[in-house]
Amino acid sequence: MSAVPEQVSGGVGLVTRPGGDFTDDETRWRAVLRRDRRADGAFCYSVLTTGTYSRPSCGSRHAHRANTVFFSGPDAAEQAGFRPCQRCRPDQAARDTHVETVIRSCRFIEACGPTPSLGELADTTGFSRFHFHRIFTARMGVTPRLYAVACRGDRLRRAIHQTQTITEAIYEAGFNSSGNFYALAQNLLGMTPTAFKNHGRGVRMRYAFAQCPLGHLLAATTSAGVCSILLGPDTTTLMRRLRDHFAAAESIAADRGFARHLADTLHRAAPLAAGRGIPSDIRSRALAEWLRTALVDTSEQAPSTDG
Ligand SMILES: [Zn+2]
Repeated sequence: MSAVPEQVSGGVGLVTRPGGDFTDDETRWRAVLRRDRRADGAFCYSVLTTGTYSRPSCGSRHAHRANTVFFSGPDAAEQAGFRPCQRCRPDQAARDTHVETVIRSCRFIEACGPTPSLGELADTTGFSRFHFHRIFTARMGVTPRLYAVACRGDRLRRAIHQTQTITEAIYEAGFNSSGNFYALAQNLLGMTPTAFKNHGRGVRMRYAFAQCPLGHLLAATTSAGVCSILLGPDTTTLMRRLRDHFAAAESIAADRGFARHLADTLHRAAPLAAGRGIPSDIRSRALAEWLRTALVDTSEQAPSTDG
């Protein structure tokens, strides 16, 4: 199942390595013949005569090429009616390893000052860029790049409050040049860095609540963009956190048009919050960033405040 919303599927300098990514059946068949562990998770193969499907590295005796078919993964093989092989358990092991890979990559991105490139990320996992990007995006619902944007936003928000000046915050948050910093920052913060540092002084924000699989959600926007997406156990907590963050801002409840738009947008993101086995802080961060981007993208078509 693909949980990739179209508007966030843009990758970073994707390069496919011919032969290294197991995208054609000949390459896949050769990987099966040599029981290539690196191919595990990239695809699985089914044997028509036994009705089972296996990982490429499975130790079982190989069937004839003519009786072997390939699938992109366990879901596709099962949809076609094949059962997982009891010997290599392609339905379990592959998924778990990939989830671990994704979690490790998320923690790596969180710890990085400057945003790591797709190549750097893939290198830490041993997968090709293409394959890593696919594994990550399929499990997270967002690209590695979008997750990195989320982390950068978090770092920037922290840095602005921890440092004396905006210039210090720029470097602290890993922006290597202040050239386009203000435009980027305004996009990430939904207001100028100065207004953000002053707890929203002079800013008018409208907010709405929604429910999602991860709990209650609050989204707040300004004329400059989205300034806050919070997840929490109940609306009272969320409201208190918004007022704590933006004590000097004027906050007003958004009209029903925006609330409906928020709920509709979240509805499209539902599969994204499902991520089995992925810790909730990672899922929340991914969902919040996906939603922020989606709301920014659709703000022109969003129902206006007078409905
Ligand atoms: Zn097997």
